[in-house]
Parts: sequence; structure tokens; C-alpha cells
Amino acid sequence: MKEYKVVIIGCGVAGMTAAIYLARAGISCCILEANAPGGQIIDNGMIENYPGFLAIRGTDLALKILEQVKQLEVPVFYQKVKTIEVEEGKKIIHTSRDDFECDYMIIATGRHPKTLGLTNEAEYVGRGVSYCAICDGALYKHKNVVVVGGSDSAFSAVRYLAKLVNHVTLIHRRKTYRAQQALIDEVYKLNNVSFITGEVASLQVDANKVLSSITLTDGQVIATAALFIYIGQVPTTTAFESLSICDENGYIQVNQQYETKIDGIYAIGDCIAKEDYQIVIAMGEAAQVALAITRR
Ligand SMILES: Cc1cc2nc3c(=O)[nH]c(=O)nc-3n(C[C@H](O)[C@H](O)[C@H](O)COP(=O)(O)OP(=O)(O)OC[C@H]3O[C@@H](n4cnc5c(N)ncnc54)[C@H](O)[C@@H]3O)c2cc1C
Repeated sequence: MKEYKVVIIGCGVAGMTAAIYLARAGISCCILEANAPGGQIIDNGMIENYPGFLAIRGTDLALKILEQVKQLEVPVFYQKVKTIEVEEGKKIIHTSRDDFECDYMIIATGRHPKTLGLTNEAEYVGRGVSYCAICDGALYKHKNVVVVGGSDSAFSAVRYLAKLVNHVTLIHRRKTYRAQQALIDEVYKLNNVSFITGEVASLQVDANKVLSSITLTDGQVIATAALFIYIGQVPTTTAFESLSICDENGYIQVNQQYETKIDGIYAIGDCIAKEDYQIVIAMGEAAQVALAITRR
């Protein structure tokens, strides 16, 4: 059993910021991370609303924050948290490899993309189906691709892909879009983008088991090398279901101090129920929680 005063779950911007504040206050802490460090900002592309930088690539910002975490000697364990137990105030965290014990636990597990729920969607991730234009767009240079969605993220993906690929078709189930008007106007000006109102019903693959076309619910077939899905996000909180701290949508419920109903368990960043999901907001929550712990 590894023991720390505080265990932070998730190495996104929220988790890393909490670690920086705790380590600087001399509190023993570690971060547990299921995947690569950085979380969602790795997929953000250029970030233009992070103070101090006119624009910074998400991956660069992630590396800069991680460097600070490493310099403060906060251990990052690449292990997925599976379940939590609370015993006489102590929190026992079971991961894919080790067990951790702590007095305070900070949940910073963020969100992940929603799927369309098509029967063979998961099977073809990496073979045409993608949730990240920045990660996978270069694989489809000079080809025709489809983006599904109507939000800022979907339009940003179209704008990014239009520079790389031959043609982008944006499919949205409504005639109106949720994206900011300025972004929509920018994309409307691109001459290799077309727009369809409809819903994807199924995926078809070729003899090599690579995506070749999609069929819409109205029967229309669109030949495409890739399907980029941008239909929203869901919180990554299944590991905490047994604690009964999530709402009906899976978001963790907290009070204004980011405390869950279990003493010593906090939640911050994109995994909590709130209005706005932004980097600086997640960081502010992290700082507030870390400082509250230093005063306990
Ligand atoms: C396409 C896109 C563009 C965006 N652009 C901007 C922008 O320009 N400006 C802005 O301010 N915000 C932007 N955002 C929002 C911003 O990225 C998020 O608000 C922020 O990154 C959330 O950080 P987080 O640390 O709360 O969560 P995340 O970044 O989601 O990190 C959570 C981490 O927890 C890990 N994790 C999850 N479950 C477990 C588990 N069981 N065990 C261990 N580890 C686990 C995950 O692997 C992940 O690394 C954008 C979001 C998207 C999707």
C-alpha cells in the first residue's frame, strides 16, 4: 500500500495544478493517471484564451505544466483507478496495479467524447472513426472526410481538417448550430466544406476493414475515409459510482468548496456538474481545493 496525505486522480490541468499548490505547501501527494498526462488539452489544438500566451498549443501547455509538477518531485503513477473504499476516514484507492491510501482525495478525472452509439463504432476507432481531428487528421491528407456535430469543437475540427484534406462534409442533426457565429462564418467561407442536415445510421467498411462510407437515416450514402465525431462530452466518473456522489448524468456533485458529500473527497475540473468547462476555471478550482487542504 502506497501512502500519501493527498492522492489526486487525473493528470489533466486540474490535477496538475492541485499537485503544484500542494507540493509547494510541503504536502505529500501523488497523481494517478490512466492515460497520457495532460488530459483533454492535448486535443485542444491552439488555445487562445489562456492568459500569458497569445496562443499556445495544448500539447505544449500540458508539457510545461507537467515539467513544473516534475520539478516539484510529485510522483505521477500511470495507473487507472478502478474503485475506492472509505474506511474510518482513510480513502483506499484500488488501481489497475497498486493500492493507495490517503487522508484526502481529489477527483480530477475530466470528461471524454460522447459516442454516436453505432453498432461497429468502437471496432473502427483508429480505422476511420475518430474523436480527435488534431490527433488523427494527418492520416487523411488529401482524402474526403466527415465531421459530425454542431458545436464549437465540431466547427474547430472542420476548420483544422479543411487545411489538410480534400473535402470535409459537416453533418448535424439540426439546421442550426450551437457554435459561435464568428467560427461558423469562418467555416462558411472555406471552399472545400459542405453541410448536410441528418443523422448517421451506420458505418460501412472495405475489404481491409477500414471505413469506406457512412449511411444516414434518410438512406443517403456518403463515401468517406474518416468520420470525426464531435457530439459532446461525458464525465469520466465510473470509478466513483459506488460512492454515490454523481448526478444522473454522471457528473460529480460538489458544494461551493468543491467538497463531495464524503468528508475529505473533493472533485474539481470537468468531472463536476457546472456551467462552464474551461482550463482556467479548472485550474482555479484546483488551487482553491489545494489551499483548503493545506489549512485543514
Ligand atoms: C476540443 C476541445 C477544445 C477546447 N478548447 C479549449 C480552449 O480553447 N480553452 C479552454 O479554456 N478550454 C478548452 N477546452 C476545455 C478544456 O480542455 C477542459 O476544460 C480542461 O482541459 C479540463 O481539464 P481537467 O483536468 O478537468 O480534465 P481532463 O483534461 O479531462 O483530464 C482528466 C484526466 O483524468 C484521467 N482519468 C480519467 N479517469 C481516470 C481514472 N479512472 N484513473 C486515472 N486517471 C483517470 C484522464 O485520462 C485525463 O488525463 C476544450 C475542450 C475540448 C474537448
